[in-house]
Amino acid sequence: MMLFFDFDGTLAPIASKPGYARIPDVTLSLLKEVLRLRSCKLAVVSGRALADIKKKIGLKGIVYVGNHGLQIRGAGVRYTAPLVPVYKASLRKIKARIARGIRRYSGALIEDKGLSLSVHYRLVSARDCAALRMAVRKIAQPYCARRLIRVRTGKMVMEIRPDFRWDKGSAVRWLIGKWRALDKGARTVALYCGDDSTDEDAFRALAGKGITVVVGRRAESAAQYFLDTQDEVNGLLRRIITGARQTLWIPFNRQRNRSGSTRV
Ligand SMILES: [Mg+2]
Repeated sequence: MMLFFDFDGTLAPIASKPGYARIPDVTLSLLKEVLRLRSCKLAVVSGRALADIKKKIGLKGIVYVGNHGLQIRGAGVRYTAPLVPVYKASLRKIKARIARGIRRYSGALIEDKGLSLSVHYRLVSARDCAALRMAVRKIAQPYCARRLIRVRTGKMVMEIRPDFRWDKGSAVRWLIGKWRALDKGARTVALYCGDDSTDEDAFRALAGKGITVVVGRRAESAAQYFLDTQDEVNGLLRRIITGARQTLWIPFNRQRNRSGSTRV
């Protein structure tokens, strides 16, 4: 199997600040077991900077996908999105302007991920969130108009990324192609598990071609299956390990929810 897992809210519980997020020991042990399975390949697909996500997990043999796919490294695989110098210069300017613009919102946090920026507002009071989002959009607008950047909203975070058609879905497609080429075209099934709106790009990329699992019920999701809570991801990992050892895939229970996903 080709396995793809998001990090925050999927392998690790959501933390109040991104720096606090930590993968539970049990999940880490399960990932180690997965890495020992010769029939499985594993990638962690995150919006975090590459160095950050590598440090958060710290296992060899995983392909780490950082910055929503802009950087891919590990297990003999390497990709960096071609970004123009004017983008990087603009990002620096935007970062300075946003840092000033959000100062008045207590709890707001800007994270520089090298190739992109995140504005976190999980700790901002609920009545200020809309104003903060508006302030960030206003600062970003001239750069969006010049097609330099795109702004996407996730769970209590705004992502400022290049206006470049490359997302978690493109990264997953790219990696599947790479893995199949390395394995001389072996056709194994792909599974993607994630919890946020940016994971929807990967669910769409795998539609009809792989198994897609959303963590938490979303009103709308392109995923086929869902898990109710983040800690159920451990159960999914256990089923993958058992299934791979028996060389049989244990079938999922099909149970419709309102978004059309089926309970795992
Ligand atoms: Mg996530």
